[in-house]
Amino acid sequence: MRATSLNLVRSAIRCARPKAVSCRNAPVGVRWSSTIGTGEKQWSTPLAKALAGAITTTGPVSVASYMRQCLTSPDGGYYTRQSDGHDQFGAKGDFITSPEISQVFGELVGIWLYTEWLAQGKKDQVQIIEVGPGRGTLMDDVLRTISSFKPFAQSISAIYLIEASPHLRKQQAKLLTSTDTFSTSDLGESASSKHIPNCSITWCEDIRFVPKEETSTPFILAHEFFDALPIHIFQITASSKIPASATILTPTGPITPKTGPQVPKNQWHELVVAPITSSTPTTTTTTIEKDGDGAASTSKDPPPDFHLTVSKTPTPHSLYLPQTSQRYKALEKIPEAIIEISPESLSYISDFAVRIGGSKPPSLSTSKPSAQTSSQTYTPTSSTTTPTYRKSHPSGAALILDYGPSSTIPANTLRGIRSHRPCSPFILPGHVDLSADVDFLGLAESALKASPGVEVHGPVEQAFFLGTMGIKERAERLLKGTKDEEVRRRLEGAWKRLVDRGPTGMGRIYKAMAIVPFREGEEVRRPVGFGGHVVG
Ligand code: SAH
Repeated sequence: MRATSLNLVRSAIRCARPKAVSCRNAPVGVRWSSTIGTGEKQWSTPLAKALAGAITTTGPVSVASYMRQCLTSPDGGYYTRQSDGHDQFGAKGDFITSPEISQVFGELVGIWLYTEWLAQGKKDQVQIIEVGPGRGTLMDDVLRTISSFKPFAQSISAIYLIEASPHLRKQQAKLLTSTDTFSTSDLGESASSKHIPNCSITWCEDIRFVPKEETSTPFILAHEFFDALPIHIFQITASSKIPASATILTPTGPITPKTGPQVPKNQWHELVVAPITSSTPTTTTTTIEKDGDGAASTSKDPPPDFHLTVSKTPTPHSLYLPQTSQRYKALEKIPEAIIEISPESLSYISDFAVRIGGSKPPSLSTSKPSAQTSSQTYTPTSSTTTPTYRKSHPSGAALILDYGPSSTIPANTLRGIRSHRPCSPFILPGHVDLSADVDFLGLAESALKASPGVEVHGPVEQAFFLGTMGIKERAERLLKGTKDEEVRRRLEGAWKRLVDRGPTGMGRIYKAMAIVPFREGEEVRRPVGFGGHVVG
């Protein structure tokens, strides 16, 4: 269950350029004080102090809640806090991503969208949607590429960017629009695209705001988005540890957990986040830290403000989420087995699937197996709460690029990243990037369950996806037109790094997964990059 050394490798990948650039605004040395626990306590950031105060009132919080606050709280979240000149991306920031490494990455993603558009009969009313666009680099390369395929460019009716961070929205607008004039509607702010004539880009805070129209064809991109979404962590614990009197507060009222012989010997317990105070016994330190992510911190890092403990009583999430898939059930017999589940990711992927294939009619209760290679039988994970959305002709596609295992359930993968180095996720809350491996199979399962009109391909390794998309040929063409030796050397190093399958490369650890339309009675068509050829 414990893949600690792998975790560290993955962490190092997200912060790929190994150059140790110190985080410019991490206020090491400055502490915020409060009186929590015994006596005066110093906290490393204002967000840490606020979180600790809240936890003192409510009790320990889920990892999902901690992650959400640390990443997107308007009061000091990593992505959302007032920009003080600190940039998360690039050599001077905390991590670097594939589109930032080479323009070829975004160009090939643009070509992938074009091949899907061709294969699906050149639909009009195309929506281009990206979730978590960062600096906007991927979208810039994608739209620039698409603009050279005129009929495809003309078919685009709208572009939507889903972004939680106000200052990243500004950066994206600067790069992607040709105007300072923005209009505001119920959806969010809009401005004209620099690359696609007569087409506007609209920024929304959530994909649910993007209009779903029967006649539209959505092409959705998610690059390093799912790894930033909050996860819950559960561990198998002997049920004898649950006090008989425990009451659990749920959204529908208090419940008392079952005790006695009928209760299974092992139960999923949630790992929760609590502040470290002077009274915190050292024995309760987190499994994650014991296993190594904590050990990834160096002596330069400040001490963590928080730690993980196993919740003694079941939580609403521990009673529900591990029951949503047979994959989790299979692990119940393994003592101390750990699983990570991201309900927000499952809800996003279900939304993608419904946009492409329409939602399941209320009468349809069985899920169909994957139309692709996998011999696994996917079973339902969670029920969709979205209203029925009919789509008589499924169309569109979603491309998910991220890191995580191909088929196993992530465990012990929560990590902090700061100045291109892995660190404890519990230091400097709001000043450290937090992420976790993506459960690709879990995403596939949810997409298939949400819509009868989609099929899922992959995940395949990034090296395979980019290789079959023609990265070598595209890079060689770029190199031919470049005389400057230094630029040539950088170009060559960059594209090779994207497909390098070694421990420090991005080719094997990063994966690509596609959701495309499924039509009853039609032959399965593999998308380009997933074993298929250009058609149409
Ligand atoms: N795709 C970009 C950026 C990845 S970082 C790249 O690969 O370079 C994650 C991105 O998701 C950031 O833009 C961050 O602000 C955004 N993000 C994180 N959580 C979000 C949420 N809950 N809703 C919307 N955007 C979110």
